[in-house]
Amino acid sequence: MVDERIIGETPAVRVATGSENHHDGRELLHEANESETSVTTAEVGSVGHIDLEPLVVATVEGKTAFFSRPSTERMETITRTLGEGTVPTDGAVAVVEHDPETARLPTPETGPLGTGVRRVLGGCGWLAPTSIEEYTDVRGERFTDRAEDDPESVRTHVMTSDLRGRGRGDASGDASVAAEWTTVYETADDPVVVVNGNEPDEHADSDRLLLESAPLLVVDVALASAVALGATDVVIYTNETEQIARERTRKAAAALDDVTDTEIPIRIITGPDEYKAGEPTMALEAIEGNHRIEARRRPPGPNEHGVDGRPTLVHTPRTFAQLGQILNGTGPVGASADPGTRLVTVVNDDTTAATVELSTDATLEAALSAVEPDSGWSGACVGGVFGGLTRSLDVPASASGLRSARLGTNGVVELLDKSTCMVALAGERATFAKEMNCGRCVPCREGSKQLVDLLHRVYDGEYKDGRLRELVRIMRTTSLCGFGRDAARPVTTAIEEFETEFTAHAKGHCPTGICNRS
Ligand code: SF4
Repeated sequence: MVDERIIGETPAVRVATGSENHHDGRELLHEANESETSVTTAEVGSVGHIDLEPLVVATVEGKTAFFSRPSTERMETITRTLGEGTVPTDGAVAVVEHDPETARLPTPETGPLGTGVRRVLGGCGWLAPTSIEEYTDVRGERFTDRAEDDPESVRTHVMTSDLRGRGRGDASGDASVAAEWTTVYETADDPVVVVNGNEPDEHADSDRLLLESAPLLVVDVALASAVALGATDVVIYTNETEQIARERTRKAAAALDDVTDTEIPIRIITGPDEYKAGEPTMALEAIEGNHRIEARRRPPGPNEHGVDGRPTLVHTPRTFAQLGQILNGTGPVGASADPGTRLVTVVNDDTTAATVELSTDATLEAALSAVEPDSGWSGACVGGVFGGLTRSLDVPASASGLRSARLGTNGVVELLDKSTCMVALAGERATFAKEMNCGRCVPCREGSKQLVDLLHRVYDGEYKDGRLRELVRIMRTTSLCGFGRDAARPVTTAIEEFETEFTAHAKGHCPTGICNRS
């Protein structure tokens, strides 16, 4: 089960699943429990490779074999072989030798499971997600206990770090976490700490993965942050449809509440499964229970005037996980101006997806082996629904590297094959912006309508790139929140990288042949 210790047990079988394949995982676990009582079984969180899951992780002593989506009959054989003290290897997607007491998922050096590094993802798919006993054993000292003992040391570690925020739902954006902490700490009033775990971008899976597979880590760092900042509340904001993430987060919060001395309450609040609801100030609206969700004008930002007007630290689960690395003092990794790692979900043709962890000084190309694409991809959308289109992934995973390449930083690489029409894709993303914006400010509300209109006119033979570029500039520089500032990125980058497709469409020809006017 998700809250029973499993580390060091042998022989053991873990079934790694996320919400995508939870039911199938439960069936395999049931089969394992029925077939062999001498084997310890556990449900663990996703390893990040949804297409391989349910992933059966079979271990005897320091040897582990991975099986992707085995049948129930195969599951029975795997478990019986483990019961005889042998690791089965026939049909395994990988076999790894490792330290029997390792607290990190043992992975092969190559192949999908060997892609990237596993720092914040180290325990995902290996540790029982909500076992406080196991978590405490692995950590030695919980972050919250450390903050209770020495809050100044926690503040100093964070406020002298160069860490930047991770994810569009983080109030720091891609900027300094230390600056955010300093403002919250220095603003008079009772601060609040918010874990913004509602990321409804269809392909951005990192926050959900952390809440499903490592909720104790996220909640512990958030609670430690609250202690260090003198906050009186922690609010965890989750998506209403992500039940497993929410349930495991709730269990993790309850378990920490039982074992730590802090009196700070942790509330779990759900927000709508709408893209805009992940924007940090709209998250605050949802947390306050407002039915009409609109972005708030800044300044003042949430760090001065957040939940109920109180200074509020808003970080994503991704950022809290990175803060855990800072507090651990684990060796430096990544680009000096943007240290740490970035979680990236790679999506291949909408059929295969994997979330991997890249050092910020690695290039996005390093993520490709996670989905093993054939050579057919001809471009990518980087950064989520409002990401940038590009032909090359030879781009550093740091915020500055991605921004210099005009790509988004929200941790998504969507591979596009040769049949993708970039004009149609840009039109779809502009239509999404037009239909999903909150309506509060004119540049985004009216600009997205005009954007769609100008793109429609391309099909009528009118490609006015000057007007498109000027409209995009206005949206980017005058929109009230990140939604509007980023909404036109797919269009601008499509024009820059694939302009011949726009001119071809204006002449009535779609190079891919999929548009109506081709
Ligand atoms: S930029 Fe768009 S989503 Fe943000 S406040 Fe303006 S209308 Fe709303």
